[in-house]
Amino acid sequence: MYRVQNLKKTLLIFLLILSGYNLKSQNLSTEIEFIDYYFENGSPLKWKIVNDTLVISLLPDYQRETLNRQTDHWYFKIMGKRDTRIKLTIEKMLPDVYNGRPATDWWNYKTGIPCYVSYDNKIWQPLKTTTLPGKEIFLEFTMESEEVYLARLPVYTTSHLNSLINRIKDTKDISVFQIGKTPEKRPLEIIWLGNPGAKNQIVLRARAHPWEPGGNWVLEGLIDEFIRENGKGKFKNFCFSILPMANMDGVVRGMTRFNVSGMDLNRTWDKAPDSLLCPENFAFENYIKDLIKKGKPPVLVVDFHNDDKGDIHLTKRDKKDVQFIQNMQRFEKLMREHTSFSESFRYAWSDDGQPDVWTINNGLYSRCKLESFVYELNANWITGLGKIPSATDWKVIGKGLLYVFYEYYSLQK
Ligand SMILES: [Zn+2]
Repeated sequence: MYRVQNLKKTLLIFLLILSGYNLKSQNLSTEIEFIDYYFENGSPLKWKIVNDTLVISLLPDYQRETLNRQTDHWYFKIMGKRDTRIKLTIEKMLPDVYNGRPATDWWNYKTGIPCYVSYDNKIWQPLKTTTLPGKEIFLEFTMESEEVYLARLPVYTTSHLNSLINRIKDTKDISVFQIGKTPEKRPLEIIWLGNPGAKNQIVLRARAHPWEPGGNWVLEGLIDEFIRENGKGKFKNFCFSILPMANMDGVVRGMTRFNVSGMDLNRTWDKAPDSLLCPENFAFENYIKDLIKKGKPPVLVVDFHNDDKGDIHLTKRDKKDVQFIQNMQRFEKLMREHTSFSESFRYAWSDDGQPDVWTINNGLYSRCKLESFVYELNANWITGLGKIPSATDWKVIGKGLLYVFYEYYSLQK
């Protein structure tokens, strides 16, 4: 018995020496070959190796005329030796500035900011991170291959969008057409599902903010379900006009929030958009105005975003608008029945109709009398499913959302 215990002790000491030797033998400077972010949607960054930790510093993008800046997107590839143990911190090179004030809470989401890892640049697995006192995000993992991609969220670029369009464009009741161009002359295309003369015109937009791909995945799910069910004539009273990637330049360049002219596509909707600085909004608003002119005003406009909370933000309304409250309660009930939505519908009341922030929904209601809301998908956690979101989870929300629209407008008096 004594000898067995002694043997175990010797073995343990041997293993400890071996693991200590291994730790000492790894030198990150020689194990890592290169950090590559020179591809579409790759995030501008600086990198260095300090005390065997890879330190990534992300660059912000800036809003025109204000001191606002934001840094929330990362997407890069680590190239190095397989089986390397990577210790990594991700930091913002400059603190964010939001509404003219320094923001402090961007990395401090209570369940932790996930970092998505992929070895094929297609399938993304979330890793949990911890936030260090200096507000850096920290994570540690072993490289299972010589190349590993890291991203803030499951990546959706113009390549994904182009393959979606190529896949669906010849399908019955679907057409794709250009409504304008981005500042860098990329085509802004509307995907049209359903019957153009239909009573229920629903307009959907995603990716006003480049770091927020959730809406793209939701829309893919909605489109796929539409195609699957459309043959039965179910959606003959519906037409969906979808602008899937409003801030396409920002997505290509791996930016966080603004367009390449420094405009926030979900702000300053109190006035008509500037055709040169903000052609994405200019084209989108003209498209909506054309629908109104044709006597087919949208019954609803939804703008998809990602944030740390996951609420639906309703337009600022008169508190006495009982019909509006009843409608939204019915919509909310359907959302909870058909999707994993479990967060809140945020009402905003006013006596003078003047919102504090001129987001798209407030602008479209105030200037065009259209019903509209901003749907923020929680980027870190889907409470209704109790998990970190995946692209598939968001597609399933899109599928459910199609039936929310269908039931809400089919059964409306
Ligand atoms: Zn947003």
